[in-house]
Amino acid sequence: MKALVYHGPGKKSWEEKPKPTILEATDAIIKIYKTTICGTDLHILKGDVPAVTDGRILGHEGIGVIEEVGSAVTNFKKGDRVLISCISSCGKCEYCKKGMYSHCEKGGWILGHLIDGTQAEYVRTPFADTSLYHIPENADDEAIVMLSDILPTGFECGVLNGQIKPGDTVAIVGAGPIGLAVLLTAQFYTPSAIIMIDLDDYRLSETKKLGATHTINSQKEDAVAKVLSLTENKGVDVAIEAVGIPATFELCESIIAPGGHIANIGVHGKSVTLHLETLWSKNITITTRLVDTVTTPMLLKTVSSKKIDATKLITHHFALENIMQAYDTFQKCSKR
Ligand SMILES: [Zn+2]
Ligand SMILES: [Zn+2]
Repeated sequence: MKALVYHGPGKKSWEEKPKPTILEATDAIIKIYKTTICGTDLHILKGDVPAVTDGRILGHEGIGVIEEVGSAVTNFKKGDRVLISCISSCGKCEYCKKGMYSHCEKGGWILGHLIDGTQAEYVRTPFADTSLYHIPENADDEAIVMLSDILPTGFECGVLNGQIKPGDTVAIVGAGPIGLAVLLTAQFYTPSAIIMIDLDDYRLSETKKLGATHTINSQKEDAVAKVLSLTENKGVDVAIEAVGIPATFELCESIIAPGGHIANIGVHGKSVTLHLETLWSKNITITTRLVDTVTTPMLLKTVSSKKIDATKLITHHFALENIMQAYDTFQKCSKR
């Protein structure tokens, strides 16, 4: 089969790899129907995630059709259409029992990281019964792909950790796919203002259509001064970091109101400065999280019923064999 393979920082290729086979009784083999490229894949390519080694097939998002299941799989059978969660969960370990699937002792984020991933014609997914979801009959397939990672990550690491409440002022730093997922799911809680901050005017103008109340291009204007002017000099109740570089995290530290929450989502490859000299007295909370995908069943309902329109997160389509071109396009859009 063909797959997108990582060969060390800055190097990848679309090449022939052996088709995966069942290794454990709890595995499934899935023929990939649709997959996506994540900002995390770009971080891997920059060398920010050293656990990813030469020869690894990238990708942790996608939908497909079950080709084969191991003897212990009871919830799925050949021919079932499934959503692949970016987090593999054994369902049995201490962390899984707490609902913290991201830290599953045998799973967690392993697809396209520690084991081969979904940017391929076929993928082996471990713990099929507890890591796959049936796709509802009349659901929009493309919208469902957004549930592998993007929507639960934006919602759990951004909206839930940020504790967005009705009437809150919210700033989302980064208008990439994750920032947009935060923007869509933040509106479950009716904040009074959602300020999007990015470097790209096109991305910012699109966010207005998705519910952003204000946009700031931080390359063209002073983002801190603008946020303060929009919030009676208080700053925002919730600042969500959706990029993963020191400048964007430090921006969140500069715009947070007393009592506020800074929710980090970004994958960081470098240390950032914690400005305790200004924050020590401000009663703020800083959170970090790897998505647990515990909200995937709920989000699956909101997407299937079109309470949120996840297709709005999709701008480009490529055939799987053109994935190298898709990476180029995504890298250009992301400007990282
Ligand atoms: Zn992802
Ligand atoms: Zn587990």
